[in-house]
Amino acid sequence: MNRPDSVEITEVGPRDGLQSEPEFIATGDKIRLINGLIAAGLKRIEFSSFVSPRAVPQLADVNEVLAGIDRSGNTVLSALVPNARGAIRAVDAGVDEIVVFMSASESHNLKNVNRTVDESLAGFADVARIAGDAGIPVHGAIATALGCPFEGDVPVSQLEYIARHYRDMGFTGVGLGDTTGMATPPVVQRAVRHLQDTVPDLPITLHFHNTRGLGLVNVMTGLDEGICRFESSFGGMGGCPFAPKATGNICTEDLVYMMHEMGIGTGIDLAALIEVAREVERVMGRELPGQVMKAGPRLSLHSMDAVATAAG
Ligand code: ZN
Repeated sequence: MNRPDSVEITEVGPRDGLQSEPEFIATGDKIRLINGLIAAGLKRIEFSSFVSPRAVPQLADVNEVLAGIDRSGNTVLSALVPNARGAIRAVDAGVDEIVVFMSASESHNLKNVNRTVDESLAGFADVARIAGDAGIPVHGAIATALGCPFEGDVPVSQLEYIARHYRDMGFTGVGLGDTTGMATPPVVQRAVRHLQDTVPDLPITLHFHNTRGLGLVNVMTGLDEGICRFESSFGGMGGCPFAPKATGNICTEDLVYMMHEMGIGTGIDLAALIEVAREVERVMGRELPGQVMKAGPRLSLHSMDAVATAAG
């Protein structure tokens, strides 16, 4: 077992969590939540996306959001871009990092971005050039990396194929996204070990959704394999409110709570983060899946007088 002493958590709630919300969330609310995350100690935030405003109206205010974020500290602000046009917009806006994404399987990539895997990779070469000229690092995500809803298990050779291209384009790392929550500990272990063996110089980030309840279990598997980069969403936001089976990302407060209880550092103030998650609930006007924000950390004890006893 080679668990790390500390981990780096990227908050993806403002992008992955919000993108499929049908009601537009006020730009000022987005900025306030992101600044709350920064104040709580988040060092990496995927704050929005430079996709077509027609495709994702929720993130059409990406420039206004960026302009309102407190950038006096050293939090890295990354944005998703789908293509060269998005990369130019991201460079012009002054993001710290660009994230590109494609699906591991041909069928999901065609369905999602209407391109073959090789067409996506060719497009990323343009993004890499644009970002490189501006001195901005690029991180490459792979959606459906740990299971495809159309094709099932994803061969690790396919992950290796994409990761080698990412490395050769100078990307700073590869993200394995469990887009539809199909990962299990053996699936995670197989994928991570294969990439560590075949593309060892490319750091791996794990991005889990809690669709089948195994999100934090999969994080544990990643930790045991020495992974120290994870992505999560405040309050466990994500998924589509109209598609009950598409549940959200793993929850940032729950992830931070687990790390701290295991003696693994995050640099994040859990109490402050919980306050941000409660604010997300208020903004959304509904209960979110995050659990630690409801129960509190295990040693935030109750007064005996205040609690009625019950059998069971
Ligand atoms: Zn995701």
